[in-house]
Amino acid sequence: MKGYKLIKPFTLEESETEDQPLNGITSKVRLTKSLITLSDVLRYNGEIDANEVVLGSVGLGVLSETDENLLDLEKGNRTYIEPSRECNECYNCKKGEAEKCSNVQIAGEDYDGFLCDFAVARTEKLYALPDSVSDTEALFINHISLAVSLFDKLNIQKGDYVSVIGANNFGNIFAQLLIYYQAVPIVLTSDEESMASAKKSGIYYVLGPNDNWQKEVSTITSGRMTDKVVYIADCNIPVVKAFSLASFGGAVAFTGFSGKTGAVSFMQAVKKQLDIHCINNDFRYTAASINLLANKAINFSFLKINNCTYKSIPETLKKLNEELETTGKINETIVNLI
Ligand SMILES: [Zn+2]
Repeated sequence: MKGYKLIKPFTLEESETEDQPLNGITSKVRLTKSLITLSDVLRYNGEIDANEVVLGSVGLGVLSETDENLLDLEKGNRTYIEPSRECNECYNCKKGEAEKCSNVQIAGEDYDGFLCDFAVARTEKLYALPDSVSDTEALFINHISLAVSLFDKLNIQKGDYVSVIGANNFGNIFAQLLIYYQAVPIVLTSDEESMASAKKSGIYYVLGPNDNWQKEVSTITSGRMTDKVVYIADCNIPVVKAFSLASFGGAVAFTGFSGKTGAVSFMQAVKKQLDIHCINNDFRYTAASINLLANKAINFSFLKINNCTYKSIPETLKKLNEELETTGKINETIVNLI
């Protein structure tokens, strides 16, 4: 396998590596596309601790080697690879309940990610992609499965008002899914460009930097405020805003990644007796996410997505890191690997 490995912060090296042996039935995928996300940039600049591995959070490709006896996957299938592995070492894994693994390994951080030519994975981690799901859409399966986790953990119901703080691609996708499930998103963002994309994507309530959020949310909800608030970590908005938009006894969920740390005052959260949740990706929802894409639950036309080539990976990561330093955000970038 040939790919771009992170040797130390800010240093990528193109190198050949042996495939790591895995338990169970494995398959090999010729990778065609990968997605560089904020997590990759934070690994690149050292804010997230990563092993010496190939970066690339998400990938898809064409199945090139697999067991002949598999029913639902054939050589040549366009295939998505779930970017996680169970540790096989924790208490739950040893008990045979790997789905409850307490130390899930993440592609591009704990083991080699997808900025390379081939990936080997346990066959149960592979999903044949239906023709109706484009490559670009499939690269966001991980975003969608995080959104579905939020629905599940916050028990979001039809008709619920949900404040979504941050309007990056994830915030936009999550808000569109809220509409799909007949909940009512109120998207809040400090940035005009994301505000425009959110509106174009069909989200009705979008508040920007010049709005009085607390007052507007109160008006929209007839004074009740929102029972559920989702705060996306890299939105560059003070956390205390999340508490101010929640109803008494409501739930606030933190999700997403950010290298920034800052002091947070929990005074309002305590006063309002809020439930605080921290929600990370849950890999049980891959199949459900593919299904949502096949049903066209999300419009990708107005998301901000850049493109680059395999050769330009080092330069792209360097540029994305500069972008992060100057603007506090990045444009997720699709890498065309062939
Ligand atoms: Zn485990």
